[in-house]
Amino acid sequence: VWNPSWSSANRQVGKVGRVPAGIQRRQLRIVVTGGAGFVGSHLVDKLLARGNNVIVIDNFFTGRKENAMHHFGNPRFELIRHDVVEPILLEVDQIYHLACPASPVHYKYNPIKTIKTNVVGTLNMLGLAKRIGARFLLTSTSEVYGDPLEHPQKETYWGNVNPIGVRSCYDEGKRTAETLTMDYHRGAGVEVRIARIFNTYGPRMCLDDGHVVSNFVSQALRKQPLTVYGNGKQTRSFQYVSDLVDGLVALMENEHVGPFNLGNPGEFTMLELAEVVKETIDSSATIEFNPNTEDDPHKRKPDISKAKELLNWEPKISLREGLPLMVTDFQKRILNDEEGGTL
Ligand code: NAD
Ligand code: UDP
Ligand code: UDP
Repeated sequence: VWNPSWSSANRQVGKVGRVPAGIQRRQLRIVVTGGAGFVGSHLVDKLLARGNNVIVIDNFFTGRKENAMHHFGNPRFELIRHDVVEPILLEVDQIYHLACPASPVHYKYNPIKTIKTNVVGTLNMLGLAKRIGARFLLTSTSEVYGDPLEHPQKETYWGNVNPIGVRSCYDEGKRTAETLTMDYHRGAGVEVRIARIFNTYGPRMCLDDGHVVSNFVSQALRKQPLTVYGNGKQTRSFQYVSDLVDGLVALMENEHVGPFNLGNPGEFTMLELAEVVKETIDSSATIEFNPNTEDDPHKRKPDISKAKELLNWEPKISLREGLPLMVTDFQKRILNDEEGGTL
């Protein structure tokens, strides 16, 4: 029978009396919710590579079994099809809570489900963390800053968010998830960490998921025009996925609660991004201007001084270095799609 005082979280604060032999030496057991998705699957790769036991919880809304298949047969890996909106009983030391659709197209598809995932799903994972004394990390988002009136954004900025707009299920959902996280920390003594993630790209992103990087890369590879929304002068900062995964692990293992911005401060307009995609994939690619979506933030760029100073973390891979690293993966999957395959 699991005893909460055996968790690594409690070991570190010295609450443990006598720990049964064998358990002390046991590998760290980690849950990754959303571990079959883009970011989650890269995180799982890293945790398994360093010898941890990993349980993935995923309902496969935007995640794919193919992102985890290379671990099937590994006795330290387990995959559970489960929706975090429902309670679950598990015994682990750490919880990385990523489950939530991330691209605007996906999170707007069923906004009620998105906000339930953010609120009820996060509540359940915090309830789980409380019961077993596990450390809990929330993957929040730069969207909590809304259409920011402060630039670049620091963690101290409270944001400029529309509470009743079409993006609210996601940005207000994540703000509530942050509130719940802090309330479980202050009110129930749960050890928590909060990451505010800025736009991230890399292999295994869903094709055609509406994110600008995956759209442009797919379009350039298929010889279709790159769809720039609005006048293309809005800005974003793009981070390569391995940098983010390093940041998440550094945050989980450090003593600071956060929130921490995790992003690459390099700032690009969408027109500049289109140029980099052209340079990387096809210089003859054309641009097509489309109307922009509602409530689209005009600019976004992280101030990452807090993460640099307290986590000793900063991104290493620039956009020009990172983009080519996702092209082979996209090429393979686009070809597979065209041939009616299942990759
Ligand atoms: P993703 O859509 O690829 O992954 C999300 C995963 O969660 C998928 O595997 C999906 O099936 C799963 N999921 C969704 N709802 C679920 C539910 N109710 N129960 C169980 N599983 C569920 O997205 P991602 O880009 O990997 O994002 C991971 C996390 O990082 C998300 O919480 C997202 O909000 C956050 N984030 C990502 C970015 C980014 O640029 N990718 C930026 C900011 C924040
Ligand atoms: N929960 C869970 N697994 C657990 C413990 C709790 O899924 O191991 C869920 C529980 O069903 C509840 C939520 O987490 O919906 C919050 O739990 P908590 O104990 O904080 O609140 P309570 O159950 O007292 O409302
Ligand atoms: N965008 C674009 N073309 C596309 C998809 C998106 O110009 O095909 C724009 C979008 O309007 C936004 C920016 O790219 O201004 C980033 O969008 P994304 O959905 O990638 O991220 P988010 O808005 O969540 O930061």
